[in-house]
Amino acid sequence: MFDLIIRGGHLVDYQNNVNGTFDLGIADGQVVEVSPEIDLTRGQRVFDAAGKMVLPGIIDLHVHTGFVCKGRTAMNNMVKAGTVTAVDVGGPLEEFYDNAVSHGAGLNMACLQMIRPDYNVKGVNPSPQEIGVLIDKSLENGALGLKILGGHYPLAREATRRTIELTNKKRAYLTFHAGTAESDETVLNTLDSFKEAVELAEGFSVQMAHVNAYARGRTASPLEECIETLGLLEANPNLFSEAYLAQFSGAPGRCVDGQLESKGTGNSLSMGGYSRDEKGLRQGILDGFVLVTCELGEESVLITGKEGLEYWEANNGDVTVSCPTNPALSLFLCATRKNTDGRFVVDAISTDGGGIPRNFIVTKGTALVRLYGLTWPEFVMKTSYHPARILGLNNKGHLGHGADADITIVDPLAGRPYATINRGKIAMLGGVILGTGTTVITTAQGKDAVKRRGLAPYIVDLERSWFLRGRQDAKAATEA
Ligand SMILES: [Zn+2]
Repeated sequence: MFDLIIRGGHLVDYQNNVNGTFDLGIADGQVVEVSPEIDLTRGQRVFDAAGKMVLPGIIDLHVHTGFVCKGRTAMNNMVKAGTVTAVDVGGPLEEFYDNAVSHGAGLNMACLQMIRPDYNVKGVNPSPQEIGVLIDKSLENGALGLKILGGHYPLAREATRRTIELTNKKRAYLTFHAGTAESDETVLNTLDSFKEAVELAEGFSVQMAHVNAYARGRTASPLEECIETLGLLEANPNLFSEAYLAQFSGAPGRCVDGQLESKGTGNSLSMGGYSRDEKGLRQGILDGFVLVTCELGEESVLITGKEGLEYWEANNGDVTVSCPTNPALSLFLCATRKNTDGRFVVDAISTDGGGIPRNFIVTKGTALVRLYGLTWPEFVMKTSYHPARILGLNNKGHLGHGADADITIVDPLAGRPYATINRGKIAMLGGVILGTGTTVITTAQGKDAVKRRGLAPYIVDLERSWFLRGRQDAKAATEA
């Protein structure tokens, strides 16, 4: 007997070479049968997926659920967008837990703790001991590893390199938003800062965050910058990467004494011809160039103009702001470019969304399918299979026998998510959120910390991840 039969959809499972009309039988949260036709009397419930694409659940390697990103709305935004699993890249961990407990929507979430000068380490060049303690504490508290916030709150080069070495040594995960304290602020979030990051990462595993952001055309044309960025990724297989599909960037909107708190915000403003300070930010919002993330009920939206400025003021600037800084060409190339072996140069399509309402994997990703930029199996590869393998989630990213029944059902004509299913439970259907609670993906070390917060842990062994083992082929991953 099945708990649920998903009937008549077009199933695409890259790992298991499935691409056609199949029924799925689900029991105890797992896929137990995949066949052209399952006898419907064997199911407690039947989900009619005729005319829909049935895909392994979307896994987003880069989202934000912290308060500055309107984290209370993050899970609702994501589940409505078809995301089943996501990594909060930067936390902070306590805010991540707060929102996971109070505003869960039936997702699987992991968190990388931020390493931020004068927030959880002293100054921009903390000692190896201090960094080591932060890594240990973060793992014990349930994080998978750390995030370096180079584009906003950079560490010194020396401390950046140490953080890369130590996370790898301690077998923790690391995501790096390029940029160091030594860089002139005009260099942050440019191709030059990416080149520096690639050098600092040499010989170690690092996830390079939102690589499209280094090809915004600030030092050369977007095309030339893309070719260089993608060339560096190809030449450095120790780097894992994701790129998103939104025109808008996102950065902290906080100002102190008339100055921007984050250096990244200044770069976005200067791209619109505004000054790199509070005055420029205010004018940018008034003019409609800068969008402010606003909580609207249980979800978030972007607002601008006078309304946006009032909201920014009412929140003392403690909100994220977004500017249209990403050229379509860079988004397209980062999503679709392959090397001569046919491997995608950028591993995954992410969103850098969550609380910032740009959870566009399904809406824009399926547009790329319609534009022949990706086939459906390639879409699955970049939005579920690769992210699962990179994290070591070997029961996710595919829908073979015994896999977690994490499923995103997409309406291919509308290009929109239709249902989000987490281990057989329907978390979103037709835009209505049904999911509650949060499952936290953590290491064995962090299990107790997750339980102490009343959340369900899902243990991942990073030793089995591509991140620590290097990329393996599909067959090897199935057998592992
Ligand atoms: Zn981000």
